[in-house]
Amino acid sequence: KATLYVVATPIGNLQEMTPRAIEVLREVDVIAAEDTRNTKKLCHHFGIDTNIIAHHLHNENESVKGILKLLEEGKNIALVSDAGYPCISDPGHILVEKVIAEGYNVVPISGSSACLNALVASGLIPQPFVFYGFMDATENKRAKFLEEVKGLPYTMIFYEAPHRIEKMLTTSLQVLGDRNICLARELTKMHEEFIRGKISEVLEVVDDIKGEMVVVIEGCDKEKDVMPLPLLKEKVEQYMENG
Ligand code: SAM
Repeated sequence: KATLYVVATPIGNLQEMTPRAIEVLREVDVIAAEDTRNTKKLCHHFGIDTNIIAHHLHNENESVKGILKLLEEGKNIALVSDAGYPCISDPGHILVEKVIAEGYNVVPISGSSACLNALVASGLIPQPFVFYGFMDATENKRAKFLEEVKGLPYTMIFYEAPHRIEKMLTTSLQVLGDRNICLARELTKMHEEFIRGKISEVLEVVDDIKGEMVVVIEGCDKEKDVMPLPLLKEKVEQYMENG
């Protein structure tokens, strides 16, 4: 059976393209790309001359049909997005779902993803975490969403655009309170930067901030206090008492 490879590409630093990713992109029959021009540049850099077709949000349903037909003909396909993993705040999920339903293989090819890079360097508790992608652009929806997640004991990861970061942090401060956060900027690139502190402190320095960014926000503390550890301790004590 034919295979769909879900291939991670660098989120900035081209040295993070793995030898395995290069080999897969060279050997598949077709590369399905979010933006064919960007992928052409990447392929050119690594001496890959595989045929590239478009698979983006606006043609996703149509292009799924075409890709399924190629798989049916026994052709192997690689799915890539502009940066990081396809499917992570990028097109791909609909395709992966359909390909699985049709019984073909889906093989992920590892690389970095901005959300995980940010999380591991944030200094915030990494587990449990929840990745939400982009927050809504409208103030009301953002506030409503944050109200809903306010009590959850999970470290939260968001993607954000530089022109919206100030508004996003302001709503977060109003709804969540002054939690610890980490703003990770330009990951893997020359100007990589981590701004860690309370939301109010980070807000003071985001004026005019540029580049790509991820915001990691600590989960609800109150909930964390009643999380499994004390319960586990109690259960163990009960167990010891009752034999
Ligand atoms: N598929 C990608 C991934 O796996 O991380 C995410 C694609 S999403 C359309 C683009 C957003 O990811 C950016 O707006 C930014 O929030 C985040 N991002 C991507 N590259 C980044 C980088 N080098 N540094 C910080 N954030 C980045």
